[in-house]
Amino acid sequence: MGRTLGAVCRLCRREGIKLMLKGIRCETAKCAMEKEYKQHPPGMHMWRRGKSSEYGVRLREKQKVKRYYGLLEAQFQRMFTLANKGTENTGVTLLRLLERRLDNALYKAGLTTSRKTARQAVVHGHILVNGRKVNRPSYLVNAGDKISVHGREKSQGFIRAQVGEDPRQTQGWLQVDPRKMEAIVVTLPTRDDVQIPVEEQLIVEFCSR
Ligand code: SF4
Repeated sequence: MGRTLGAVCRLCRREGIKLMLKGIRCETAKCAMEKEYKQHPPGMHMWRRGKSSEYGVRLREKQKVKRYYGLLEAQFQRMFTLANKGTENTGVTLLRLLERRLDNALYKAGLTTSRKTARQAVVHGHILVNGRKVNRPSYLVNAGDKISVHGREKSQGFIRAQVGEDPRQTQGWLQVDPRKMEAIVVTLPTRDDVQIPVEEQLIVEFCSR
């Protein structure tokens, strides 16, 4: 299963926004985006970069969302194909589908401090959906689903170490019980639940070339 390895703060610097890829560190002064001398794209030729082309603007918008949710290119394209099959606005459908991923739901519920650790928790079999183990981070949650932690001590300890560590407010589409380490999907997320500033139409234009 693919995942992004390497220096992830570079990705934030490239996209020009905080993608929140490092958990609690992202909320502190240690964040690279909080340091003035790092608030530019990485690389030795960063000062030479001129105005972006139309293609470049659309590419950056796609990359921003892909990196925010921690997807690789093929995974993102599969999501776009799925969104494109629907009858509703493709861009909004794409964002809502991404928001419904199990790793994202865990993170948004405040049960893990980042999507990366949420993904790890799922892959390692610590997470149950409606009482059944699900080890696919790409699993799409549905309204009424109950997300909980496996009863074994290893799983409980992994999540307990992270619950409450993150000052983030939990989302309205999730009802969370931090004490029981459970979350219920009250309703499917809407476009307003997507917190990253993004122009989804540009992504649709890029992926429909
Ligand atoms: Fe991005 Fe987090 Fe690194 Fe800040 S600390 S640059 S938000 S990954």
